Amino acid sequence: MAGPMVSVAVVGALARIARVAATNGGSRALQREVERFFRDYGPLGLDNESSRPTSVLSEAKLVEWCLCVIAENNPEPVAAHQVAATITQRLEDVERQIDYHDGRFRDLPSVTDLVEFIWLYVGDAALGRYEVRRCAECGAFFLVTDNRQRYCPPPTRGGKSRCLTRRQMREKRVAQRVPSSHG
Ligand SMILES: [Zn+2]
Repeated sequence: MAGPMVSVAVVGALARIARVAATNGGSRALQREVERFFRDYGPLGLDNESSRPTSVLSEAKLVEWCLCVIAENNPEPVAAHQVAATITQRLEDVERQIDYHDGRFRDLPSVTDLVEFIWLYVGDAALGRYEVRRCAECGAFFLVTDNRQRYCPPPTRGGKSRCLTRRQMREKRVAQRVPSSHG
């Protein structure tokens, strides 16, 4: 069976889910992200038990820890081996196929649930296919889909990062306060 088609938008959406899952987003925020994912990418058909927010949440701390190790330049070998073993175990049922379509080769993983999909991207991050960065505002880890990114990805494609907005609002408040303190 051919797996779902992977696009940059899907990567962005999954990076968001992984971020919310991996950090303190909480189950409500995660529920919203997962619902948004299925609304936007419903045709992927990843609608089963392991795609429920509770299942994704239960993987959250492990995903966060793996991204944290991967993000390090020179990770502790014991930790890195543990990350490799974890990713391998989580992806043991995933088949990867190479497809040729519209003039280019594509990687088409047969993914059956959202948890697998998230681990697929953690694996790609470990292999250096995606850079992992730490948000300059909230400290959460995210997969880089645009080299200019310094903050958590925006909630919608082409939208504005909430963390960037928060920082700009704070800087604006500080800038407004400075003149008044002098006058
Ligand atoms: Zn952030």
